[in-house]
Amino acid sequence: MNAGRLRADVAGRIADVLAGAAAPLTDVYVGWTAAHEAATCPARYRGQGEDGWGFPGWSPVLAAGACGRAALAHHIARADLARRPPPMPVPLVAIRTWMQALRSPPEPGRPAEERSSVGDWVRETWEAGDTATLAAVAATAGRWLAGFVRVLGWPLPPQFTLLNAPGPAAVPSLRWHPDKASPVTVACGADARMGRVTGAGGFALAVHRVSTGDDGALRERAAFESAAGALAIGVPPASVLVTAGDTGERVTLPVDEDLLAQGAERIVGVVTQRAVAVERGFDPADATPSAACRHCDRLADCPPGQGWLAAAGRWRGGLPVLSVLPPG
Ligand code: SF4
Repeated sequence: MNAGRLRADVAGRIADVLAGAAAPLTDVYVGWTAAHEAATCPARYRGQGEDGWGFPGWSPVLAAGACGRAALAHHIARADLARRPPPMPVPLVAIRTWMQALRSPPEPGRPAEERSSVGDWVRETWEAGDTATLAAVAATAGRWLAGFVRVLGWPLPPQFTLLNAPGPAAVPSLRWHPDKASPVTVACGADARMGRVTGAGGFALAVHRVSTGDDGALRERAAFESAAGALAIGVPPASVLVTAGDTGERVTLPVDEDLLAQGAERIVGVVTQRAVAVERGFDPADATPSAACRHCDRLADCPPGQGWLAAAGRWRGGLPVLSVLPPG
């Protein structure tokens, strides 16, 4: 499927969903997290309410990859300014240097890449005095960066471009809107592109994770990012490389019609659930219990989730779920 056909197909299906909604939708952000949540437990996704539909905002876990990419882009830009090849980054030093640059006044000759959404969040967190959160973010981002270099090697592969990172050493963001007036934003969350974008494709998208996930989620992730990437770039990638830093694993998934169709399904699925939410909001009748119940804000209102967690051998928050013993 070429990207033009994919764009027309997804835009048409999204337009149908929007036209059938009980009320106009506003600000529907379709990234991997929303796609995964809408597919795994629609009830939970719909229950996130008004705050859940746009960009979800930064948290220490979500910010780790973005901080790692921004710090790496900053590291490369500094070396470019000094007209020398970038040395292999020392992860925590690179993160700290980038965070310090965010808080420093502008200087002549300083890379201008510090402006970014995650950079603004780090600066605000610092100004709020929340150094504990910043330390947690730096630790996870350092782990992300260490794994990135471990799996992809240093120097980075030829024709390598960082994605979704600020500055001249990267492409700032991969977004697609079905049309100018659409409330829907589709965001490709790939970390890097390898190879040049040509009409024939021939490039790969890289998705780097700190740790491994199950193989089902791995294919789901590749499907979503390949479709979102094809929509945003205008050419489908030839493959998606999914990596895990802690184990050094890397899996290449070729992009074919089936993978793109699966990704398109997930993208349209988010908008569909958002349209259903206008009428029904959270409804435990659509609950799909899984390990996600352990961390779900809706658990108190969700009998299927409670039932799943009450089964033998379930854990919650790192501790086994125990039944309360009667007094005496
Ligand atoms: S508790 Fe589980 S089943 Fe219920 S809404 Fe949350 S994730 Fe879904």
